[in-house]
Amino acid sequence: MALIVQKFGGTSVGSTEKIKAVAQRVIKNHKAGNRMVVVLSAMSGETDRLTGLANDIQRIPNSREMDMLLATGEQVTVALFAMAVKEAGYDAVSLLGDQVAIHTDNMHTKARIDSIDPENISKYLDQNKIVTIAGFQGVADNGDITTLGRGGSDTTAVALAAALQADACEIFTDVEGVYTTDPNVCAQAKKIDYISYDEMLELASLGAKVLDIRSVGLAKRFSVPVHVRSTFSENIGTWVVEEEKIMESMLVSGITYSKKEARITIKKVPDQPGVAAKIFLPISDAGILVDMIIQNTTDGQLTDMTFTVPRNDYQRAMDILQNVAKDIKADSVSGDKDIAKVSIVGVGMRNHTGIASTMFQILAKEGINMMMVSTSEIKVSCIIAEKYTELAVRTLHDAFALDKDNAPIEETE
Ligand code: ADP
Ligand code: ASP
Ligand code: MG
Repeated sequence: MALIVQKFGGTSVGSTEKIKAVAQRVIKNHKAGNRMVVVLSAMSGETDRLTGLANDIQRIPNSREMDMLLATGEQVTVALFAMAVKEAGYDAVSLLGDQVAIHTDNMHTKARIDSIDPENISKYLDQNKIVTIAGFQGVADNGDITTLGRGGSDTTAVALAAALQADACEIFTDVEGVYTTDPNVCAQAKKIDYISYDEMLELASLGAKVLDIRSVGLAKRFSVPVHVRSTFSENIGTWVVEEEKIMESMLVSGITYSKKEARITIKKVPDQPGVAAKIFLPISDAGILVDMIIQNTTDGQLTDMTFTVPRNDYQRAMDILQNVAKDIKADSVSGDKDIAKVSIVGVGMRNHTGIASTMFQILAKEGINMMMVSTSEIKVSCIIAEKYTELAVRTLHDAFALDKDNAPIEETE
């Protein structure tokens, strides 16, 4: 008898009809003799709707109350799902994060899971019930409801799979698995059969929202193999596993994009020790994450400093930097929200040169200007104008032949 954790995302439970269909699918696995733990997201659009309500009332919504509000989305789906199972003649019980309990820190709206008590779940499984658990939420030490940040139900599922030592963790979504790029942007995108935790971490951190990055981090840490697959078909999806388990590694395995960043430039900054700290300390004190940073070399006296911040934090960062600029006697602060980060990812890059230059050539041929570049062992990212995002993704996908069975690898060692 296997213990299986299955997570269904917002579009999979977007209507009562879909909830009934998901219940049927889970019942089938239950009838086959498996112990079933089912994590659900809110119905698609619901978390956005609730966020909109909060924004109508409070300019910067109180984060504790925000969590109270957002956690209701998942409460609705687990209750309806349990009803659907019972209506079909089987037994189910729905649990909220604090009923499990899923213990988190108290960082409202971006809480981290500290621990999970498996006893309650095991008790209900022993009673032959299908246990359904609200994704994306937990409880802090003081009893407050917390949420894990957008897309957090994936993390709930993987954390539960680790805590329950599940035999399988399946993430059901609206596409057939993890693709070489977003299949909703590029029709040629190809499903990947196996991908390593590290590659998936890069893809997720660079914009592939099919798996929440923290869920991949947890899966890697606890060696939980994750199967990403479609709610609407029986097809095998993508296995996210240890790198050693993958026979063939591709040069470039995926292209991602993110429209969630903004660029800020401080012009004519005195080129002296300590100035960078003066710029970035107040930004980090405000809890704003800086991603790419570029400092130009100039005549040795003045330099320009450019970096990216999350688009949500752009206005706050600009306000802070106007003051900093005065303080350090910089010339001016300017910024641009209409940018996108396009990245190529692949473990094969570790042993091959020329990937970045190929990427630059491809973008140049399309007349796409690169504003910033950053690289790591297994990725190259470029900041471009947002309006070119889809063109860049499709052209890169085509040029690196990701729609073909094997991307061409030419040895350079
Ligand atoms: P869920 O509601 O099931 O959690 P998400 O919307 O969070 O689903 O994630 C699935 C979506 O991720 C897909 O519809 C697809 O548009 C997008 N996506 C982006 N990059 C990729 C990729 N490389 N592979 C698959 N899907 C991707
Ligand atoms: N409902 C939350 C969201 O929309 C969590 C999730 O779906 O994973 O972000
Ligand atoms: Mg998701």
